[in-house]
Amino acid sequence: MHYNIQRVLAYVGIGSNLGDPVSIVRDALICLDHIPDSQVKKYSSLYQSEPISDIPQDDFINAIAGIETSLQPTALLLELQSIEDAFYRRRDPALKWAPRTLDLDIILYGEHTIDNGQLSVPHPEMANRLFVLQPLMEIAGDIQIPGLGDLQHLVDSAPVIEISKIDC
Ligand code: AMP
Repeated sequence: MHYNIQRVLAYVGIGSNLGDPVSIVRDALICLDHIPDSQVKKYSSLYQSEPISDIPQDDFINAIAGIETSLQPTALLLELQSIEDAFYRRRDPALKWAPRTLDLDIILYGEHTIDNGQLSVPHPEMANRLFVLQPLMEIAGDIQIPGLGDLQHLVDSAPVIEISKIDC
């Protein structure tokens, strides 16, 4: 589907737990601001969160960026994947819960609901991921999530994990 829109505020989730994750997340924010026809309008603090995985690995560093874009959602996804590739991200479905240098997900694309085989938005796992909801709460406060409702309610209902804002 082609979205006939001028500019949309999309929220992108950022996560890293390999190498120097704090620097990687900061560098990723700079890369996001260089996506064509797009501009980072706001971004959250960095958060440290425990991994949701049976595979032993380091904690994640997470953040959320609010990006104003006139790119179509699949074009935005391709831009995010090329940034991931620049950070040597290995893309392998068998490694879904493995450590990663950089993971970029489209959490929200304006108020649109998208399900086209390549992209599901709102991100289908967002309600289960406090490491997405908490930074989103910081920069998007009282928004309503299409199909899911009140963000604060999602935060209150999400499975509890260890997560804390980091000073840096
Ligand atoms: P991941 O392991 O989280 O990076 O998953 C990447 C795969 O999820 C890609 O093949 C995308 O096409 C797909 N995908 C579906 N919905 C989304 C979304 N909202 N954001 C990012 N990737 C998505």
